[in-house]
Amino acid sequence: MALIVHKYGGTSMGSTERIRNVAKRVAKWARAGHQMVVVPSAMSGETNRLLALAKELAPARTDDAYARELDMLAATGEQASSALLAIALQAEGLASVSYAGWQVPIRTDSAYTKARIESIDDARVRADLQAGRVVIVTGFQGLDELGNITTLGRGGSDTSAVAVAAAMKADECLIYTDVDGVYTTDPRVVPEARRLRTVSFEEMLEMASMGSKVLQIRSVEFAGKYKVKLRVLSSFTPWDIDINEEADSGTLITFEEDEHMEQAIVSGIAFSREEAKISVLGVPDKPGIAYQILGAVADANIEVDVIIQNISKEGKTDFSFTVNRADYSKTVTLLKEKVLPGLGANEVVGDTKICKVSIVGIGMRSHVGVASTMFRVLSEEGINIQMISTSEIKTSVVIDEKYMELAVRALHKAFELDHSPF
Ligand code: ADP
Ligand code: ASP
Ligand code: MG
Repeated sequence: MALIVHKYGGTSMGSTERIRNVAKRVAKWARAGHQMVVVPSAMSGETNRLLALAKELAPARTDDAYARELDMLAATGEQASSALLAIALQAEGLASVSYAGWQVPIRTDSAYTKARIESIDDARVRADLQAGRVVIVTGFQGLDELGNITTLGRGGSDTSAVAVAAAMKADECLIYTDVDGVYTTDPRVVPEARRLRTVSFEEMLEMASMGSKVLQIRSVEFAGKYKVKLRVLSSFTPWDIDINEEADSGTLITFEEDEHMEQAIVSGIAFSREEAKISVLGVPDKPGIAYQILGAVADANIEVDVIIQNISKEGKTDFSFTVNRADYSKTVTLLKEKVLPGLGANEVVGDTKICKVSIVGIGMRSHVGVASTMFRVLSEEGINIQMISTSEIKTSVVIDEKYMELAVRALHKAFELDHSPF
């Protein structure tokens, strides 16, 4: 008997028919003798629908009081789907109970709309498991120190599931979604993309952080920190397929590089449209400037990604960086109001029509010339590179968003990701 966590995404929970299917699948696992904790997302479209209602009432707000209410609102989506799944499981003849994040409780910090999980009390869930119940825990949400409901950022149910698996010391966490695993790139953009049977934890971390939304980045971080066995697989296979076949399907995130791993130089291509570029123009080229600009941004809990500073002319330079598009207005306002006056810079300009495309692979560590191949491919397509950033196992470029799909397809082909390396 094992303790297993299943996570079902929005599309998998998208209708009562699909919820019934999820219930049948979970029931199969429970009847095979496993203790089951299930973490569902809201039904597909529900989170967007709720957030759009708030936007109708307050189109331009970015303040904390507003963000608190957004969390209060968005959290209802997962509460509904969790209760529906418990009802569907009961209809299958299984004892089942659902809990909202605050009932567990899953404790987070107070960063509304992007809170981080700090701790999970496993006592209540464990008692239910012991009593033979299937336990449903809402994805995406938690409770801060002051008792406010928080949410974990878009796609956050992945993180809830892995964090619950870590807290419960589960034997495995299975992320059921609308694709049958992690692909070399988003199969919706490149139909030739290939499913990876395994992907290393480090590669998955880079792919997720560079925009592959198949797993939320923080879920991969949790899996790495607590060594949670993690697999991504399809919820669209027939619910009654052989459980051993199902348990071996999809993509396993591995922690060891063994001889079975695919040894391609580039394993995958990630991309993100959710980026915006901000440039502070005419900044004095002297010590402390990066800190003055980025320190203020960090204090506002805004994550910065690619950073460049141009060569100075006559003691002045331009300083550019990217942030998540959702943080764009907030960052520009902050810079104009709080930073520019003390900086002696001329102006803040921004561009929200950019995207980031990244090639990722452990093999890049031991091969030279991979980045230059990327630059050659983009130049052959006539795509201008605005910014570059690298790590040991990835190279990212910022380009005009209208070239994103062209760039991804050209790179996927150039690195022969449509062919199996074996
Ligand atoms: P869920 O609602 O189940 O959480 P998401 O929409 O968040 O599902 O994530 C699954 C989607 O991620 C897929 O439908 C696919 O379009 C997208 N995706 C992006 N990159 C990849 C990749 N490398 N491999 C598989 N899917 C990817
Ligand atoms: N329902 C949330 C979202 O749409 C969380 C999730 O699906 O993981 O972002
Ligand atoms: Mg998701």
